[in-house]
Amino acid sequence: MKTIKVNIVTPDGPVSETEADMVIAATEFGEIGVLPGHIAMVAPLQIGALRLKKGSSTVNVAVHGGFIEVRPDVVTVLAQSAELAENIDIARAQLAARRAEEALKAKQNDLEAQLAELHLRRAITRIKVYEMR
Ligand code: ATP
Repeated sequence: MKTIKVNIVTPDGPVSETEADMVIAATEFGEIGVLPGHIAMVAPLQIGALRLKKGSSTVNVAVHGGFIEVRPDVVTVLAQSAELAENIDIARAQLAARRAEEALKAKQNDLEAQLAELHLRRAITRIKVYEMR
């Protein structure tokens, strides 16, 4: 069966270089499933889980925004930060979620509230992806 190459890259360096049968990503335009031979496209990503399906197993990755570039034989994900499920520090994510919730309750200005909401979404995504292991 044909596979598609997947590279996930952040400013800190590569997070994963692997092959998958199918890549499922949450783009700003909705969820997409990418199989080998997919037409070329670029889309902004939501903060959410990226799923790499290979055989009967799935590798889940928390991806915090950025872009997905699809070419027929390779998918590249460029994100500010991304973590494989196995590398997520769950205690840190839970603490980050609590801090972000408290910041949201503190009713600061709009910018601080937006930053806290993004922080909360990153933490929730990490917790969700950790639980999908
Ligand atoms: P925190 O408040 O815990 O730092 P954050 O959402 O502000 O969370 P980011 O700015 O998105 O963190 O990430 C900073 C760096 O720390 C990135 O390299 C990211 O992959 C890593 N990171 C953040 N949270 C976790 C976590 N829970 N487990 C593993 N790595 C994490």
